[in-house]
Amino acid sequence: MAVSKCLKCGTDIPEGAEFCPSCGTPKGAKAVAQPVQPMQPMQAAPMSMQKVSPMAGIFDMFFSKTGIILGVAIGILLAWIGVLIGTFSDGNGDIATFMTSTGFAAMGLVLVAGGIWNRKIDTRARLGMVGIGGYVLTVGLSVTTSLFGNLFSGA
Ligand SMILES: [Zn+2]
Repeated sequence: MAVSKCLKCGTDIPEGAEFCPSCGTPKGAKAVAQPVQPMQPMQAAPMSMQKVSPMAGIFDMFFSKTGIILGVAIGILLAWIGVLIGTFSDGNGDIATFMTSTGFAAMGLVLVAGGIWNRKIDTRARLGMVGIGGYVLTVGLSVTTSLFGNLFSGA
């Protein structure tokens, strides 16, 4: 057993040499090196990690950054239409307030849901979104529900 072959590149390693003259792999690697079999489970692992449930896919779509910005923008728009109606019309003030509070509730809902489901956003930003969104949602909802009674029973 004068000459052995490098397990990595197949070059003949002279007797007495500690390393492969071609690629530098230690001769001792021969003992550690195993057949190619372990490659199979290693290839399967990343595939299963990438697997995302269909529900998560839908949430990802709805609460992408664009989705959150769009939702908040619609909420602000609703709120402002309510403010404009309240300011420039002599009509039912309850309708104006109802729209404003519904707009805030929508804004809060989008922020809370986005903060919970959008895993791509920084964790602290998500906590802030849930906190602020939760507050706005609670206030908006409480005003909306109390006005809902006024609007549809007191007429
Ligand atoms: Zn080699």
